[in-house]
Amino acid sequence: MEDEKIGMFHNLLKESSNIVFFGGAGVSTESGIPDFRSATGLYSRRLSAHVSPEELVSHTFFERCPEEFFDFYRKRLIYMEAKPNDCHKALAVLERIGKLKAVITQNIDGLHQEAGSSHVLELHGSVRRNYCMDCHALYDARFMQASEGVPHCTRCGATVKPDVVLYEESLDMDVLDAAVRAISAADMLIVGGTSLIVYPAAGLLRCFNGDRLVLINKTATQADRKATLVIHDSLGKVFREAVDGLTGS
Ligand code: ZN
Repeated sequence: MEDEKIGMFHNLLKESSNIVFFGGAGVSTESGIPDFRSATGLYSRRLSAHVSPEELVSHTFFERCPEEFFDFYRKRLIYMEAKPNDCHKALAVLERIGKLKAVITQNIDGLHQEAGSSHVLELHGSVRRNYCMDCHALYDARFMQASEGVPHCTRCGATVKPDVVLYEESLDMDVLDAAVRAISAADMLIVGGTSLIVYPAAGLLRCFNGDRLVLINKTATQADRKATLVIHDSLGKVFREAVDGLTGS
């Protein structure tokens, strides 16, 4: 059943020339990065009894308890050892052969770029970029990982803040606009590893005008009934098999 669907997915990829991929936490869990709700659960039972996952990554928590915020950031949001999986790699191949125009992601790990994708729209930012709040000097994830307590800028001494959209903070409108434009122009939209419940996922999906909507998720989502094709399987496996043979044709 799923094998037949992967064959159909392969054919849809073959027919399309303006593909956009929209991905959520499920893309990264196959690289060993837990979604942040499980991450907060793992972080501290004591703390998570008082602080919800959303609060732990909120602007208020960052301001009020910066030491705890950065401790959590280093331990549970930065995964230096994580590597791109077959889904990331296949998307990079689709971009290279000119079929895929954009990857829109809710993840903050930077694995799409590491796999070779260049047009990546990060709705929630990236742990690979961290900025001095005063002089805006840029720091990488390694700097943050090696820091202790609240990380300070080596130039001016101000706090270095992750370029990650925290709860209570608004999304970058330029990134969101670019995502809307990419989806509106696409002839195929692939949605993977997201339940589509979190803002702005559901709204973005409505911008799609094409007739090839493919959903790949381990479990069912609300959008399943609108899709051309729904595959409930591992993203890495589905992409590896579906993209195989496309490059030579
Ligand atoms: Zn500075």
